[in-house]
Amino acid sequence: MIEVCTGDITRLDVDAIVNAANPSLLGGGGVDGAIHQAAGPQLREFNRGLGGCPTGEARISPGFRLPARHVISTVGPVWHGGEQGEPDLLKNAYRHSLELALDNRVRSIAFPAISTGVYGYPLVPAAEIAISVMRCFESRFDLILACCFSQSVADVYEDALERIADCSE
Ligand code: ADP
Repeated sequence: MIEVCTGDITRLDVDAIVNAANPSLLGGGGVDGAIHQAAGPQLREFNRGLGGCPTGEARISPGFRLPARHVISTVGPVWHGGEQGEPDLLKNAYRHSLELALDNRVRSIAFPAISTGVYGYPLVPAAEIAISVMRCFESRFDLILACCFSQSVADVYEDALERIADCSE
């Protein structure tokens, strides 16, 4: 099942929350900063040992002080106008996060709107990619949550969820 919710992803009691991280995996602004703040300094210490993460890939860490058991950090693309492979990189970020979750027996997972903040990816196409990839993995999870920080973002996701009913890959 895929659900859209509104609120702070750091509060969610799920098996894994996904972080829209930067390639260092050592913390940053936006949702990344909120997750590191809530997880505590151990997340940064743990991630130091991971040696970073290229755009489109994903890495897993414990949740430390978070209610979530794991943090899956992925790096979405910076938007440069759409002609530099951004859609495939964003697809890969979602796909690799979900594959890594399955490898770690995660049954419930929550995603923020990856790349749509500081990285500048336009929200409507980003939500369409998010929902399309989630549809392909839906049956292998109990719950995939699209955690939106505001109601206006949630409205865009709800619309995409209605329009995109199946996995098209
Ligand atoms: P990126 O660098 O990938 O663009 P940002 O953190 O700047 O990442 O923004 C990604 C999305 O996460 C934005 O829609 C932003 O509003 C949202 N966001 C910021 N803080 C939180 C939070 N605590 N919980 C859920 N979403 C958040």
